[in-house]
Amino acid sequence: MTTTDGFGAQKVPRLSSLDARRADLYGGPNVAIPPKHLMASILSHDTAQEMQMATEQLSDISSEDGSPQVVTSLTEEKPSITADDFALAFDIDGVLMRGGEPIPEAAAALKYINGENPYGVRVPYIFVTNGGGKTEEERCLDLSRQLDLEVSPGQFICGHTPMREMAEKYHTVLVVGGEGEKCRIVAEGYGFKDVITPGDIIKTRHDTTPFRKLTDEEYKNSRARDLSLTTIEAIFVFADSRDWAGDQQIILDCLMSKEGHLGERSQTFNEGPPLFFSHNDVVWSTSHEHTRIGMGALRASLEALYKAVTGKELSTIAFGKPQIGTYQFAMRLLQQWRKDYHEINKPPSTVYFVGDTPESDIRGTNEFNEISDATWYSILVKTGVYQDGDTPVYPAKHTCNNVLDAVKFAMDREMSKKNKGGAIDDIDSNAGPLRN
Ligand SMILES: [Mg+2]
Repeated sequence: MTTTDGFGAQKVPRLSSLDARRADLYGGPNVAIPPKHLMASILSHDTAQEMQMATEQLSDISSEDGSPQVVTSLTEEKPSITADDFALAFDIDGVLMRGGEPIPEAAAALKYINGENPYGVRVPYIFVTNGGGKTEEERCLDLSRQLDLEVSPGQFICGHTPMREMAEKYHTVLVVGGEGEKCRIVAEGYGFKDVITPGDIIKTRHDTTPFRKLTDEEYKNSRARDLSLTTIEAIFVFADSRDWAGDQQIILDCLMSKEGHLGERSQTFNEGPPLFFSHNDVVWSTSHEHTRIGMGALRASLEALYKAVTGKELSTIAFGKPQIGTYQFAMRLLQQWRKDYHEINKPPSTVYFVGDTPESDIRGTNEFNEISDATWYSILVKTGVYQDGDTPVYPAKHTCNNVLDAVKFAMDREMSKKNKGGAIDDIDSNAGPLRN
């Protein structure tokens, strides 16, 4: 199994291991740090143009009954004071949204940091989600509608955003996951020249997945091709698989191939293309009362399957939180956003990251805090994966009931700091030592 320049590889403990704990699945060395050139390139992606496009698209949005949606405009007059010393970063699922619906306190929290607070201060913020499956622009439009507030692609990172620049390296790729053709569209939008989906392979060879038949819609959209002339150079799981059995069969076929030629099996099982996941969250929060398995579970499953079928270990690569590269990327996006939209041309001293998953949001924030010039301050909320009474393996600096409490805590802490000339006696009871 090959890896890519600039990327490490992670071995996740086998699910078959009797003593494997959930935390073990997240353990091991970090992987998938997007290389510097990748980040620079993404950030030079025309943020201003994206903002303008999103603004124009938002102005075209009408609700189903034809009446205009109420969306706060970027062009509205700003409050007179914008905090230049601190900023906020939010996870989305389990923090602001759950099961496709806004968490009750989400709208109030965003209004609070947009100036509706006792201090009259507006705070710059970004969103960093492991989720995906849609273009960044589409996801921002969804969020804008759901949260009744404009969200720009210039303040948004999802799990597969860093895959954009992999298009320079790989020509023909297998893209897995998501609804219908959406991930193919995302991948083509990123510049991948030849994007194959599992549907294309099933349409070409219906016996690839004996129990999986394409729907009429899938058959129409899928593209039959001569597989004998196809070389799959890399596999990307962009979003959660909708058909684990079929997708795993096809991914395994690729991994076991000789250099990505589906018709040719490797004798050594170490000649297949690299396999990338947009994140490694084993579970995530939905409207169901218990967490649901996610992409990290598919990753663990595939690695176990590969071992069972070939006897060989499989190294795979994951982006997203808690990878340090994702936080480096987030910091640069935040600085760009502060500069472009808030006209603040300096890095923030403190970034509060609000998340619901200790193993990704909190772990990544705490680890990035150790190496970042700025303080990255983790706040855990109880509205998603983490539930009251759990003992997180990766404790946050502070824990709150919900996102509104989190932003109030951050604001109060900063204001208290200001009043004390920068020093603060921290009020956390569940925190490790602070760097401030
Ligand atoms: Mg979450």
